[in-house]
Amino acid sequence: SGKWERAVAIAKELEEQCATPTSKLKLVAEAMEVEMHAGLASDGGSKLKMLISFVDNLPTGDEKGTFYALDLGGTNFRTLRVQLGGNGKGIAKIEHNEVSIPPHLMTSSSDELFDFIATSLAKFISSEPEEFHPPPGRQRELGFTFSFPVRQTSIASGTLIKWTKGFNIEDMVGEDVVGRLTKSLEKIGLDMRVAALVNDTVGTLARARFGNQDVIAGVILGTGTNAAYVERAQAIPKWQGLLPNSGEMVINMEWGNFLSSHLPLTEYDKALDVESLNPGEQIFEKLISGMYLGEIARRVLVKMAEEADLFGDSVPPKLRTQFILRTPDMSAMHQDTSSDLKVVEKKLRDVLKIDNSSLEMRKIVVEVFNIVATRGARLAAASMVGILKKIGRDTVKDGGKQRTVIAVDGGLFEHYAKFRNCLESTVKELLGDEVGETIAMEHSNDGSGIGAALLAASHSQYL
Ligand code: ADP
Ligand code: MG
Repeated sequence: SGKWERAVAIAKELEEQCATPTSKLKLVAEAMEVEMHAGLASDGGSKLKMLISFVDNLPTGDEKGTFYALDLGGTNFRTLRVQLGGNGKGIAKIEHNEVSIPPHLMTSSSDELFDFIATSLAKFISSEPEEFHPPPGRQRELGFTFSFPVRQTSIASGTLIKWTKGFNIEDMVGEDVVGRLTKSLEKIGLDMRVAALVNDTVGTLARARFGNQDVIAGVILGTGTNAAYVERAQAIPKWQGLLPNSGEMVINMEWGNFLSSHLPLTEYDKALDVESLNPGEQIFEKLISGMYLGEIARRVLVKMAEEADLFGDSVPPKLRTQFILRTPDMSAMHQDTSSDLKVVEKKLRDVLKIDNSSLEMRKIVVEVFNIVATRGARLAAASMVGILKKIGRDTVKDGGKQRTVIAVDGGLFEHYAKFRNCLESTVKELLGDEVGETIAMEHSNDGSGIGAALLAASHSQYL
């Protein structure tokens, strides 16, 4: 019928608007490299903040002792205890606890959020066996992974520039993050020193570099997206301080805020942005990351329901609810391998209250997911290639013996195999076979939290 043709036409139009041919991705990678230069040249020089992390030495493997980490992401909150063996022995033991962040705390007050964090940490510590109680006069030490843009003033201090993802707590912007956490720790009488304040990308990089010197970047593909990489200190014109002995500095790019005329933006992306908590901000993140992929797809399905009666005469009411279609549900449906798309049928029913979907309908839904996920993965690949270009790892050196590893963490990368496979193959597509073979991606599991504990160790007051 004409209705059905209209649905197909909407899908076709989406595919055209989301297209990311190699030629376009090369332009995106080049634009990323250009913006990296601009962001390193001066504060405010680019949409890419290129923040100085104050990490100029990555952990070596010789760190020793017990250290803690708090990992505040966008969805989950993790508490970790990491035992380090010293003398190159590496990590002896990791224990951790994970809770999801109560949504109301994301937009409440900084008191409520940080008291919640401090209390969770206190609970984790109160269940510790005697052996972990520090001797009198000695403090426990903590690495705090705070996955939002922070202007660092030292390794253990920095002010929040803005919130991203689902967070919006006005009284925190411009405030010292560590000071705020310390206040809540003191309030409940927990004696702990924050030894390092790190972005999740920096933690991921530190974690992976700990075991492998070929690691040059840490990338997050989770609720949000971002990257950090190792830059030559000489290549950071805006850096006013002394040049570090290592000659290197880790830069937190804040690539979620990247913007370029080469980005394939559709009417759905524009509407999502306008209605978001942070309109005009984090446009790149809104094309790629886990918080948004399902929501983009939902918006396309609404259009198909309205204009092509895809799900019957009226638009299913649930489908109108923002963020109801979460990326984990989208990925489960997208990766449904049953011939009659049973998973899609069940999710449509459970999540959107769409009963008796036809196989044809389910197929077009999967097609929408494929278009949206493919665009995200390919753009993420292009931006990784942008980093490789910036640091000269996009060509073969030493006859191909120089290896380059990009460490990646986050639920999107970890659980969405189609996304991850597309990302990996696109990096190779953009670099060509010869260079592509020297580049690897590595899942740095829980890297953001473990890396923060490692950085707390290398910045311990007892060294
Ligand atoms: P955060 O980014 O909040 O630190 P995670 O790294 O654990 O947390 O990533 C969680 C995010 O990963 C979720 O918000 C979701 O978008 C995405 N995600 C989790 N599970 C899946 C899945 N099965 N498929 C696709 N995306 C997923
Ligand atoms: Mg995280």
